[in-house]
Amino acid sequence: MATTDDSIDGLTEHCDHCGTETLHKVSVQIITESSKQENAQFSREPYRVKECQTCGDRSSQRMNNA
Ligand SMILES: [Zn+2]
Repeated sequence: MATTDDSIDGLTEHCDHCGTETLHKVSVQIITESSKQENAQFSREPYRVKECQTCGDRSSQRMNNA
């Protein structure tokens, strides 16, 4: 299996802003969450960030949604 991690771009996905399927640049970012809730701890969560190459709309989605 070929692992080329940093180059998961050029995906065609639905864009809410365009209302149609467009080319998206997709990357994964590790975002450190610091919640103010007292029982929360610092957690670094991977987010899937996609950017529409047509309108530039960006959206991020937490990957391990519980
Ligand atoms: Zn778009």
